[in-house]
Amino acid sequence: MQPTATRRAARGGLDLGGTKIEAVVVDARNNVLASARRATPAKGGPVAVIAQLAGALTEAARSAGLEPAQLRGIGVGSPGIVDTTTGAVSSARNLPDWNGKVELGPALAEELGTAVFVGNDVQVATDGEFKLGAAKPYRSVLGVFWGTGVGGGLILNGKPWTGRGGAGEIGHVVVEIDGARCPCGRRGCMEAYAGRAAMEARARRRVEKGRKTILFTLMKERKRTRLTSSIWAQALQQQDKVATEIVDGAIRALGAGIATALNLLDVEAVVIGGGLGVRFGQPFADRIAKEMLPHLFNDEHPPIVRVASLGDLGGAIGASLLVRDSRHNRS
Ligand SMILES: [Zn+2]
Repeated sequence: MQPTATRRAARGGLDLGGTKIEAVVVDARNNVLASARRATPAKGGPVAVIAQLAGALTEAARSAGLEPAQLRGIGVGSPGIVDTTTGAVSSARNLPDWNGKVELGPALAEELGTAVFVGNDVQVATDGEFKLGAAKPYRSVLGVFWGTGVGGGLILNGKPWTGRGGAGEIGHVVVEIDGARCPCGRRGCMEAYAGRAAMEARARRRVEKGRKTILFTLMKERKRTRLTSSIWAQALQQQDKVATEIVDGAIRALGAGIATALNLLDVEAVVIGGGLGVRFGQPFADRIAKEMLPHLFNDEHPPIVRVASLGDLGGAIGASLLVRDSRHNRS
């Protein structure tokens, strides 16, 4: 049990993903006191999602010996378009029945009895790596979150860059004109080659064409409904040809897309996170760095490419930083 003073300064963090919710409670020094994980409800809309977020946070708080209302505040990293002043979230197409604008922050604040601050999930995860993780030594950083989709976050000269609200969408940088169809509906985006969802669709098409792969056998054995990061990792370990080809293609696309962003921004460091990024680890971050080289204009000074160091809880820890930052900005 932590001393009372430490616990009084504790903050909550929630990472709302398309498949899972991670909750953490951290102390004033950002040490994780407790965490909890729940599945994102597949139905029931925002009401069900908000109940699950509150449940996960309450579980984490109680494991740390606290009630949610005793926390200094709670930060939430959410997909979609986030209004950081009101805590409203819209266009979260990865979330079930999330139609129009949902007052996520105010609803959670009422449920949990403390201040709630909402930010974009990828931006808060980048911020977490910048302040506490792999990007700590650098002033300008590109975060690339390689998971179901490919998200990006930017820190330029020490400050988050969100543009007009839509910056950092590195997954939709075009790596091939008239190329593969992206889950966003456009063509040739990096995510159409590197996103886990697009990779799975690609694997299914190869199976339909008669190719053999253990990917879907592993999926059935593990009673999963999708090809998770660990299934991809296992198939690679077993030198499955289809998996290897698709991951090689993903790494080439990431190399081209990230190098394109580098040619524009010339940041010092790239942090690779997300489900696939964290699972595959530094050897794959190194492969991405190698694939970037032929596309880098400033190829004598390639950026540092590191795998995210806060791991699976990085999004929730990054979200908890919103509490400190928001209070600071408001004071
Ligand atoms: Zn796209």
